[in-house]
Amino acid sequence: MNDKPIYVTQPYLPPLEEFIPYLEKIWDSKLLTNKGPFHQELEEALCDYLDVEHLALFANGTIALVTALQALRIAGEVITTPFSFVATAHSLLWNGIKPVFVDIDPNTLNLDPTKIEAAITPHTTAILPVHCYGNPCDVDAIQTIADNYNVKVIYDAAHAFGVQCHCGSVLKHGDLSVLSFHATKVFNTFEGGAIVCPDARTKQHIDNLKNFGFVNETTVVASGINGKMSEFNAALGLLQLKHLDRALARRCEIDHTYRELLKDVPGIRCVDQAGQHAANYAYFPILVEADYPLSRDALYQKLRENNIYGRRYFYPLISEFPMYRGLSSAQRSNLPVASEIAEKVICLPIYPALSNNDLNYIIAIISDPQ
Ligand SMILES: *Cc1c(COP(=O)(O)O)cnc(C)c1O
Repeated sequence: MNDKPIYVTQPYLPPLEEFIPYLEKIWDSKLLTNKGPFHQELEEALCDYLDVEHLALFANGTIALVTALQALRIAGEVITTPFSFVATAHSLLWNGIKPVFVDIDPNTLNLDPTKIEAAITPHTTAILPVHCYGNPCDVDAIQTIADNYNVKVIYDAAHAFGVQCHCGSVLKHGDLSVLSFHATKVFNTFEGGAIVCPDARTKQHIDNLKNFGFVNETTVVASGINGKMSEFNAALGLLQLKHLDRALARRCEIDHTYRELLKDVPGIRCVDQAGQHAANYAYFPILVEADYPLSRDALYQKLRENNIYGRRYFYPLISEFPMYRGLSSAQRSNLPVASEIAEKVICLPIYPALSNNDLNYIIAIISDPQ
C-alpha cells in the first residue's frame, strides 16, 4: 500500500525563489491588473510558443468560453459534445443558447463529424467541439460542414495547449479557440485562460468585452464582463513557460511507459493519440473493456484502496446532468458511443513529478488486479 495518495494530476509549480523577482516588480510598479506589463508580455510569449498570431488572456477558461460566444454573437442552437468537462455546455446556457448534443467518434472521442449535419436546424449558429484529451478534432471535416451551413466554429481547446495536428498548431482552426490555464492543466497560471483570435480586429473586440466593454475612459460599446487576467497570474505564466518543455518531456516518458507496459494487459485499451503530431500528454485515459477481470468501477475502487486516485473523466456525460437531461439530444439513444465510453474510461495519474516507482506501482495493480 502506497503511503502518499497519488492523484490524477499534481499542478506544476516552478521553484518559489524564481517567482520572487516577478513579485518585486509588481510591488514596485503597483500595477496589479488591467493590461499591465506582465499581461502584455505573456500574450506575446504565448503567441510565440503556440505559433498563433493573436491571443487574449482571460481570468479563466470558462469566462473565455462565455466571451468567445458573445464576441461572435452566437445564439439559438449550438452543436456540441457530451463527452467533456461541464463548462463546455455551461458556457452555452450562460448565453441563453440551447446545446444540441451529437455523439462522438469511438477512436478520437471527439465530435463525430458524420453525425453533425443531421443535428443542424435553421436555429443552428455554431459548432462547439472539444479537442478531448488534446486529441485534435477532425478540423477539416468540421470546417467543411460549417462553411456549407454558414455556421461558426469555436473550439474548446482547454486540453490542447501546444498540440499540433497535421498542419501545425491545432489552435489555428475554427473562428476562435479557447484555452484554460487552470491548476490542473498542462500549462497553469493557478487560474487563467485565453482566446486565440484570427485577426487584430477580433482580438480588440474581445479585449473590450473582457474589460466591461470599455474602449476608452468614457466610452462603453458593449455589455462586457470582467474577464481580465491579473499581473500575478500573468507573471506566473511567464515563469511557467520557462519550465514547460522539461515538464512536457517527463509527461511524454510517463505516457510511453504506460503504453508499453499496458499494451498486453487483456481488457485495457489505451486511447490512441496518433492524431497529435505534437502531443502535450495532458491526460492518460484508458478504457476498461469487457474482457478485463474487473468492471471499470471495480478497478477505479481497487486503485483508490491502494491510494491511487484516477478520475472517470468524463463520467457522467454532460448530457446526464439535470440542466441538460431533458433535451431530446441528451437522450442516451442519441449518444450510444459517448454513453459507452463514459462507462469504460479512467484517466490515470500523469504529471511531471510522478516518480517511476509510483508509475510502476500503478501499472502493477492494473496488470494484476487480483
Ligand atoms: C478545464 C476545462 C474548462 C474550463 O476551464 P477553467 O479555466 O477551469 O474555467 C473548459 N472546458 C474543458 C474541456 C476543460 O477541461
